[in-house]
Amino acid sequence: MRSSSTTRRSPAESRAVRQLAAVRRAVAPLSPPVSSFEASIRSTPFRILVSVLLSARTQDPVTEKAAARLFAKADTPGKMALLDETEIARLIFPVGFYRTKARHIRAICRELGARGRVPPTLDGLLRLPGIGRKSANLVLALAFSRPTIAVDTHVFRISRRLGWAGGRTPAEVEKELQGLFPRRNWSGVNQVLVGFGQTICRPVRPKCAECPLRKECPSASVSVTSNK
Ligand code: SF4
Repeated sequence: MRSSSTTRRSPAESRAVRQLAAVRRAVAPLSPPVSSFEASIRSTPFRILVSVLLSARTQDPVTEKAAARLFAKADTPGKMALLDETEIARLIFPVGFYRTKARHIRAICRELGARGRVPPTLDGLLRLPGIGRKSANLVLALAFSRPTIAVDTHVFRISRRLGWAGGRTPAEVEKELQGLFPRRNWSGVNQVLVGFGQTICRPVRPKCAECPLRKECPSASVSVTSNK
């Protein structure tokens, strides 16, 4: 794992940093859903936590509207804990697994207690119901500006397509990316690659002809239908 941005970069590290910047430039004008979603939840750590939980297996525009309905009804853990699960489920429908998420949201609100303080550590977040490593890393980056890399399906797929990582699990890919990028890039990797995955490097039929990395991507001609 790289510990300092002043460490001399290997050619692979320099290439990855350059490629990430090229992707960022290509995606910005396309206004991917993730940009609007992350802008909409940048307020309190509690709102970020709940929105990240809602976003699992759900498209960003659907999550954004569900979170708005829920927070219009109850905007603190104390108020939200007073809603019953059925009411929370009704408010967040149609996000994926809305019944399970409603149960987790209520349990989280009770866990956070009267002060409603969201834990600012990986271990603390992982102890909350329904919060896995990817979600915890995303909350740490968005709510507490911590250098973390949240590996979701987009980050996992694209990192492997580009040859940045070869790991078979999100945890393995996270470790490889931490070794490849300087810390200052870590928290940006998720947003850039999610936007890239929503617009150009899509799961199926990626738009390689429109990709700034098409001349150097090892998967440019083979990933048309695969989910590699
Ligand atoms: S060339 Fe195609 S597969 Fe490679 S990163 Fe670009 S869009 Fe994805």
